[in-house]
Amino acid sequence: MPEGHTIHRIARDHQRHLAGDEVEVSSPQGRFAEEASKLDGRELKGVEAKGKHLLYHFTGAGYVHIHLGLYGKFRLSKQPLKPPRGQVRLRVIGSRYGFDLNGPNRCELMGNDARKALLDRLGEDPLRRDADPDRVWDRVSKSRSAIGGLLLNQSVISGVGNIYRAEALFALGISPFRLGKELSRGEFDELWALLSEWLRVGVKYNRIITADAKEHGKSLSRLNKNERLLIYKKPHCPTCASEVSVTELAARKIYYCGQCQT
Ligand SMILES: [Zn+2]
Repeated sequence: MPEGHTIHRIARDHQRHLAGDEVEVSSPQGRFAEEASKLDGRELKGVEAKGKHLLYHFTGAGYVHIHLGLYGKFRLSKQPLKPPRGQVRLRVIGSRYGFDLNGPNRCELMGNDARKALLDRLGEDPLRRDADPDRVWDRVSKSRSAIGGLLLNQSVISGVGNIYRAEALFALGISPFRLGKELSRGEFDELWALLSEWLRVGVKYNRIITADAKEHGKSLSRLNKNERLLIYKKPHCPTCASEVSVTELAARKIYYCGQCQT
């Protein structure tokens, strides 16, 4: 499942290459054909992301809400696009670029009220300019759930996935099993700041990088796959060398160091 940085990167790229164009919209596979016919020839006004959700605003026709889920995939390319490959739910073609969308979990046309309701039910997204960490702190500080679970709860904070949660909790020495209400405001602020910074790096480089480039003596873009992360899927803790623990938390595997994270 893509984490928030991937979704925001898609929004940024599609905004850059398609926004402002009157676009051709179709559904080669047919499942979105009726909606596509209402959008065809309209202006794609803008693209926004919140957490793992995308919203495409079509002037005068509402919003297309897309959630990729596990199998959804975009293929953005320069015009002219190649013939559709596989089950293309949505094809959007602008003056210079176009994209195909295959296999999304959700692809639906909605009005502004539904868009607002969707945005409201999602927790604050550190990548959005309107993000309000106080609202997240309000939920976390009252919660009897483990922080490792809260970080994956998209109604508390949106966009953080399995890799960022493991990495951030390790970097700050916080056990994933500590309850939300056991975190201090200082710890929460550090967590929010770190996630915000890392997610921005993720959008920029289009991949998750949590390692410190200076420690490896090279720039962030040159880190290899093994060097980019601190603890996720690693055999040993980079700080104390003890074996990394792995267990299920909120239905996903969490990697942590039982010595360094308390
Ligand atoms: Zn350790």
